[in-house]
Amino acid sequence: MSFQSMGLGPNILRAIEESGYEEPTPIQAEAIPLILEGKDLTGIAQTGTGKTAAFTLPMLAILERLGKDRSRHRQTRALVISPTRELVVQIHDNVEAYAKHLPLRVATVYGGVGDGPQKKALRKGVELVIATPGRLMDLMDQGCADFSGLEFLVLDEADRMLDMGFLPNIRRIVRDLPKKDRQTLLFSATLSRDIEKLTHDFQHEPKTVEIGRRSNPADTVEQFIHEVPKAQKIGLLKHLLQDNQMYSVLVFTRTKYLADRVAKQLGRSGISTGALHSNRTQNQRARALQEFKDGKIRVLVATDIAARGIDVDGITHVINYDFPPHTEDYVHRIGRTGRANMDGVAISFLTAADRDALRALERFIRRSIQIRKPIGFVCSPDTDPPPSRCRNRPSRVPRKGKGKPRKGGGNHSKGGGGKRSGGDGQPRGEVRSGGGRPFGSTSGGSSGRRTNRTRRSFR
Ligand code: AMP
Repeated sequence: MSFQSMGLGPNILRAIEESGYEEPTPIQAEAIPLILEGKDLTGIAQTGTGKTAAFTLPMLAILERLGKDRSRHRQTRALVISPTRELVVQIHDNVEAYAKHLPLRVATVYGGVGDGPQKKALRKGVELVIATPGRLMDLMDQGCADFSGLEFLVLDEADRMLDMGFLPNIRRIVRDLPKKDRQTLLFSATLSRDIEKLTHDFQHEPKTVEIGRRSNPADTVEQFIHEVPKAQKIGLLKHLLQDNQMYSVLVFTRTKYLADRVAKQLGRSGISTGALHSNRTQNQRARALQEFKDGKIRVLVATDIAARGIDVDGITHVINYDFPPHTEDYVHRIGRTGRANMDGVAISFLTAADRDALRALERFIRRSIQIRKPIGFVCSPDTDPPPSRCRNRPSRVPRKGKGKPRKGGGNHSKGGGGKRSGGDGQPRGEVRSGGGRPFGSTSGGSSGRRTNRTRRSFR
């Protein structure tokens, strides 16, 4: 099926062409016709499958088709709820691209920034609101939003919103929305009982479309493990980063505190690094992400929640500095690389304490992950010594001239640290790191692999 045969309208087709999309991805091919028919839809798909366009394109077509008279009343006609500020901004970017030939008024609503401009936009009247649940509920409680004419509701990353404890907010928000004539779409990476309950409560005879189960990490991602005592992780990370084929590296830590600490330590070693987690201000988060996207910083150290769904082209390596606490997080983390048919590498640091988690993960993804020794990295055996006892002996000289030229450098964003909550009813899911028990020494192994930079073709 082609985009042209779907009935999206010439303005949207033109924008699709300008975005460089040649054909619909599988989720788009299945979901768009159903949404255009006016059906409620439950989409089981992870990010990277083109799911944002799968709901945005038909939503815009419907808004355009039914538009002219209704938009005069200045009521909000469509609402997209997504768990994090980054995702809201990302969906907004998509909407801007696909709606560039439509006269559409859009507002984004999220915490961590002043609410003045958001209130003003809502009062003026916008057809589409893209929001995180916490701030949206605040503004609804203050009577700033008029959803009495809402026709279209999208719950994006619903499973994550439940994980983050947003269920009460979402129930309250949806309770206050009109039921009649509302088309409701729900996207989730998994179809759990809780999600089924939500679809039962919020949707009317939904169709289900399921694409790319999360238990199948992208096969464009080469995955392996380095065993390392906890105290020597930072040494190993710096060692690996001597490989200048690691152009664009996303490092995951379990805690905000560690994300800041690792970012600072890398920054002190002259590696351009930023930190992304929910204790950072919205401006800091947006800047770190933008600099990473622009290639101004080479390494972004992030917690799971902040990094959820981020869509950055050309991430060459994902490093699980802390082994992911939940198996699904692993799949999600490594899915940040190897996107759109590019190759990527995912390296997980494993301490003795993570062995059970590894076994659970391997059962979940139904394959084993190879353990490799990092070349030239030598640690004291059977101890978890302080970093000073860990000798760092690179055996490989970084290959000259192979690194992608980078603008800037040494551009380390300072971390916020502390224990504040992330504003906007932010996540409670970022847990403190468990202590890794020491085990044997590691040496040898390579991490670099050339990335194949073809884009825009989906399997
Ligand atoms: P998403 O799953 O929504 O995060 O989308 C992942 C990436 O795929 C984004 O960079 C989109 O711009 C891109 N994309 C979405 N649909 C298509 C398509 N039909 N062809 C090529 N790229 C696409």
